[in-house]
Amino acid sequence: MSLSGKTAFITGAGSGIGRAACKILARDGANIIAADINAKNAKETVDLIDKQETKNISIALDVSESASVKSALVKVLETYSKPPSIIVNCAGITRDNFLLNLSEENFQQVVDVNLKGTFLVIQTFCKAMVEHQVPKGTVINVGSIVGKNGNIGQSNYAASKAGVEVMTKTAAKELGREGIRVNAILPGFVTTPMTDLVPDKLKEVFASKIPLSRFGTPEEIAEVISFLASDKSSYISGASIDVNGGMVTC
Ligand code: NAD
Repeated sequence: MSLSGKTAFITGAGSGIGRAACKILARDGANIIAADINAKNAKETVDLIDKQETKNISIALDVSESASVKSALVKVLETYSKPPSIIVNCAGITRDNFLLNLSEENFQQVVDVNLKGTFLVIQTFCKAMVEHQVPKGTVINVGSIVGKNGNIGQSNYAASKAGVEVMTKTAAKELGREGIRVNAILPGFVTTPMTDLVPDKLKEVFASKIPLSRFGTPEEIAEVISFLASDKSSYISGASIDVNGGMVTC
């Protein structure tokens, strides 16, 4: 199996794409650390994969709080004695509104979770990887097509995801010398609790712009996460991979 013997730390693991990533990475042989602000859902994810012959744990984590990220690392080191070599930044939120109506609080919340959270996890876990000389580190950040093109009602979210993409490229440049690859996946529209919030009428408009005529599944994103986590992608770093059914713009 392509991830045998490796350990993966996945944020946003209690739902949607993060949960699918936990299942697929476990299927491919990785030990899973399922981290989410919703501890109950993270535990449920681990229960779903516990049949695998891997060592899996769940952790309650708020990616936007550095103390929470640091204590997650402590728990990981207590359990596995070394940092994971695979980091998947999947935690994310939306707080949609037209720019002229968007509150400062909702702007800040989205930036804090999606962008600052990704920064805190990369900094904390990659520092540990370097200190422990973990070989072949790989970081996968989940951005969005919206970070490239913008989207009505999502100025906060689009800006946060654009930040994730360019932070990915910067981190790849800085961490390559440490043997750590950093890549982003830019999903289009995927059926998860996040897109359940989108009104049906708007979903039809989006689907009409997708050449494959449908939303993606969380598993279709998770398969690409597994590829980027494995040695099969050993010469890919600083890349942004579109996984969007051929959609060019929202
Ligand atoms: P989701 O709402 O199903 O899952 C997001 C998870 O993140 C939840 O379990 C939630 O509890 C967790 N979370 C939220 N705030 C957190 C915090 N502060 N700390 C830790 N965990 C936190 O959403 P999803 O669709 O699976 O989205 C996963 C990622 O994919 C997000 O980054 C999202 O922006 C991105 N994305 C989703 C789509 C889509 O169409 N669904 C498209 C492009 C990008």
